[in-house]
Amino acid sequence: MKCLGIETTAHTFGAGVSTEKKILSNELSMYKTERGGMLPREAADHHYQNAWRIINNALKNAKTSPSELDCIGFSQGPGMGAPLRIGAAIARYLSLKHKKPLIGVNHCIAHLVIGKLLKAKDPVMLYVSGANTQVIALDEGRYRIFGETLDNGVGNMLDAFARSAGIGFPGGPVIEKLALKGKKYVKLPYTVKGMDISVGGLLTNLKQKLGKHKLEDLCHSLQETLFSMLVEVSERAMAHCNKKNLLLTGGVAANKRLQEMCKKMCRARNARLFAPPTSLARDNGAMIAYTALLMHKKGHCTRIEDSQIRPRWRTDQVKTIITI
Ligand code: AMP
Ligand code: MG
Repeated sequence: MKCLGIETTAHTFGAGVSTEKKILSNELSMYKTERGGMLPREAADHHYQNAWRIINNALKNAKTSPSELDCIGFSQGPGMGAPLRIGAAIARYLSLKHKKPLIGVNHCIAHLVIGKLLKAKDPVMLYVSGANTQVIALDEGRYRIFGETLDNGVGNMLDAFARSAGIGFPGGPVIEKLALKGKKYVKLPYTVKGMDISVGGLLTNLKQKLGKHKLEDLCHSLQETLFSMLVEVSERAMAHCNKKNLLLTGGVAANKRLQEMCKKMCRARNARLFAPPTSLARDNGAMIAYTALLMHKKGHCTRIEDSQIRPRWRTDQVKTIITI
């Protein structure tokens, strides 16, 4: 069976084709800026302009024609309204035109379900992306949030600091590069509250320190502080839930230093780290296709009249159809 998946929750227009076992294609175009952040209407314009090229490439690379598809999946939420509407409209159109079932997918769940491809059995999941930062585990049939950010998502925080430092969007990869050249640790606020973290104070403090320290040192100190907070709450969740695997996912999971710190923690507790390749950890269409296909196989389908976007759809509101 094959499914086409469409991703448009934020900066990325992604389209991918998947079977139950394998990703056949994964194409994307990302909205970027040299300076300043992301404007939702500009991201939506970007998606509209690139949609058909990306979808056609995804089908071509998967050697699949629309008639061979078994269903069409799309990110129904959570995310930004304007970009989400573009993906939903295109998915509805393709579903009606080619008479294929439509499957609305929760974007966060798709990030987690990708762990199934890696054979990560019953992990604690550290999901770190732009808007989302959550420590999740499957418990009694639901993906439950054991810890999360009390204010900004980690990626958005990195992007906000990058915007203040004038190094463009997305900020995470540039901060990672600069951090490699940082030598001095500058003391920064470390805020863990039980199982949750808060990054607002850290961001404010960093902005105040801009110009007073080398940017490379600030980036290094930011990564060490922020990622230690994430590792601390993940480890606590693993200990409470007695789980032996950690799945690191979301766009920030591409960060090598974060991966290294998680690996070290897992090694110390005899656990295993699963980190998908960046192409599947960041926002992408293949994870939507893969999740939608597994949902379709379990008999799930989204009626057109129920396919409205859900910008605030939380992970723990989703009825669990796919477990990993
Ligand atoms: P997502 O929404 O899951 O695609 O994640 C996007 C977020 O990941 C953005 O906020 C980026 O700044 C962040 N990001 C991407 N690559 C890296 C990296 N290498 N290190 C840290 N953050 C990153
Ligand atoms: Mg995401």
